[in-house]
Parts: sequence; structure tokens; C-alpha cells
Amino acid sequence: MSEIPSLDSSKPYYQCVRCGNCCRWPGDVNVTPEEVSTIAAFLGRDEAEFISSCTRLNANRTGLSIIDKPNGECLFLEGVNTCQIQSVKPIQCAGFPNVWNFPGWREKCEAVEVAAS
Ligand code: SF4
Ligand code: SF4
Repeated sequence: MSEIPSLDSSKPYYQCVRCGNCCRWPGDVNVTPEEVSTIAAFLGRDEAEFISSCTRLNANRTGLSIIDKPNGECLFLEGVNTCQIQSVKPIQCAGFPNVWNFPGWREKCEAVEVAAS
């Protein structure tokens, strides 16, 4: 998994409770070329085959995204909240909501706020 940028310790930390909601939002799950290699190797798949069957061009056409299922959830979401590539998931996934988030994220994410140390 890619390294997550260090967090600002003066701000609250949000502990993920694995509700799986962020894996169900339609939209890009961006993957870097390095992440593509890592995930393909983790799954034991040929990289070119993985790219053609599991990724698509992202919305702003700057890179690749993991494809969505027809219902909008991520291809690698299994059941309610299991990520099939948890140990090698993209940094976009690992960084939410502490490294990045968006207006209104709190209404959808069930992470628990932990006081700053
Ligand atoms: S890769 Fe895993 S953590 Fe990221 S959106 Fe897909 S299922 Fe969720
Ligand atoms: S929406 Fe928030 S609490 Fe739920 S899995 Fe994603 S980061 Fe974790």
C-alpha cells in the first residue's frame, strides 16, 4: 500500500468503523501505476489483464480508476464492508477521511472522532 502522508496532530482524528459507505459511493477510486502493479500482483493477475478488466479511465482523464459495479459500488467491495484488496488498497481509500474529504462527508461517513493528542 502507498504511504499515507503524515497527519496534523492538532486536528481530530476520525477512526474508521468500516461501515463501507465510502466504497459504495459512485465515482472514481483512483489508482496510481504503482498501485496497479501492487494490486495485480496481490491478486495474482497479469497486470495488463488487470488493467483491462478492473480499471477504466478516471473522470478527469488523468489516470485509472477501479471500475464500479452496476450498482455504483467499488468492484472490490464484498458484502457490506469487506475490501477484497484491503492490505493493498489505494491511498485514496486509506486516506479518507483524515487525509482528504469533501464538503458533507460527515453525513455519509460513520467514522468516530477521536480527540487530538
Ligand atoms: S478498493 Fe477497497 S477500500 Fe477502496 S473503494 Fe474499493 S472496496 Fe473500498
Ligand atoms: S465511510 Fe468512513 S467509517 Fe465508513 S468505511 Fe469509509 S472511512 Fe470508514
